[in-house]
Amino acid sequence: MKKVGVLALQGDFAAHGAALERAGAETVFVRERSQFADLDGLVIPGGESTTMLKLLHHDELFEALMEFGRRKPVFGTCAGAILLASDVSHPAQESLGLMDLSVERNGYGRQIDSRVAEIDPDPDFAKRTAPGKLEAVFIRAPIIRRTGSGAKVLARYAGDPVLVEQGPHLVATFHPELTADLRVHELFLQKL
Ligand code: GLN
Repeated sequence: MKKVGVLALQGDFAAHGAALERAGAETVFVRERSQFADLDGLVIPGGESTTMLKLLHHDELFEALMEFGRRKPVFGTCAGAILLASDVSHPAQESLGLMDLSVERNGYGRQIDSRVAEIDPDPDFAKRTAPGKLEAVFIRAPIIRRTGSGAKVLARYAGDPVLVEQGPHLVATFHPELTADLRVHELFLQKL
């Protein structure tokens, strides 16, 4: 059984843990650098990326996480996607740069900052998991403004990429851990 860490400093890590276990993985909540040693992959949950960044530095996890991502798959949702990106705007902040992506924080604006949308994933997503629309829960989500040449867009909403993979890593700007549909987590487990 694959052993997957969920960064548990802040945000909705518990929901990811539950989704990963339902998808058939052993889950560990990661709060210390020693815990990275025997993991097959890591999830960075949604939450508040600035706060998460502060806690990562406070607990001396930032470098350990960057080093982990150079050898193992990482899946970031929402704030986690912001942390994985190479370039963050609105406002700019430091990030791990494990994926060649430019993201704009809170890109959908203040008025309608959260919504649930039905989206059609790319046929490749269906082929690797199962067919059917995805229910995408957006909560003060970032918009991915640029993807690097090595990136593959697996789903879009209103024309913008919302599920993107690049090499071993995966990001979603929505929250698959908040629905009963396990396909996005299953896709990540396939990458381990
Ligand atoms: N708006 C948050 C941020 O900028 C992300 C929101 C989320 O993770 N649901 O960090």
